[in-house]
Amino acid sequence: MRVEPGRASETWNFGPSLALDDSFPFVCAGCGDCCRHRNDLVLSGYDLYRIARRLHLSPRIVAHAFCKEYIAPQSCLPALCLTPDPQTGHCRFFEGNACTIHDARPLACALYPLGQSIDPVNAKVEYHAQLPLCGVCVRERTLRQYLDDAAIPDRTGIDARWAVVCTQISDQLLSAGGREHPHFAAAARRIHKALYLEYELGDDFYPQFQENTAQLMPLLARILS
Ligand code: SF4
Ligand code: SF4
Repeated sequence: MRVEPGRASETWNFGPSLALDDSFPFVCAGCGDCCRHRNDLVLSGYDLYRIARRLHLSPRIVAHAFCKEYIAPQSCLPALCLTPDPQTGHCRFFEGNACTIHDARPLACALYPLGQSIDPVNAKVEYHAQLPLCGVCVRERTLRQYLDDAAIPDRTGIDARWAVVCTQISDQLLSAGGREHPHFAAAARRIHKALYLEYELGDDFYPQFQENTAQLMPLLARILS
């Protein structure tokens, strides 16, 4: 599963996989270009939870107010992406050339201009730089420094588990016939709630994700049988 750095409708040129101590000569120049005309920024459940906490709104309200729900064509999973400001076409959280939810910005934004891929079998995480790099070139920087500065290691365990579980759910859906299954809509509604909506903001995300998905799997098996 790859997290593209934003505009998934465009063609990206990713470099080879980078090791943590490889050179990554990038420092953000703060131009804001990665927030402009951004209409397909995909959120994970953890992204939505973090934004909801930042805004003091429930995940359900944030999803309703700021996101579009759709069925991802390849995985058949219900997914969410942020909808752009209808006036400017820019991200709705982009104001005065800055991100108003910077500490809670989605993974794809925190990674930019990196893409992340996670092997759904062994949860191995790899990073690829989108080329040519934007920003300022600082030769002595490493990938590890960049990831640490963006606080990516704090969330990598959750993101890896998200990728693994989503792949398992997708496999279950696809092997049952995907969108052709007569109860696909009911299954998709349950998955959407478990992955995105049924989270209390006063409690940590990960235990709730574990509980939601543990309850979801047998329920899905019954719906799709
Ligand atoms: S969430 Fe923040 S960083 Fe991400 S596109 Fe929007 S304004 Fe930019
Ligand atoms: S990540 Fe790149 S495009 Fe985005 S603000 Fe920084 S320099 Fe500009």
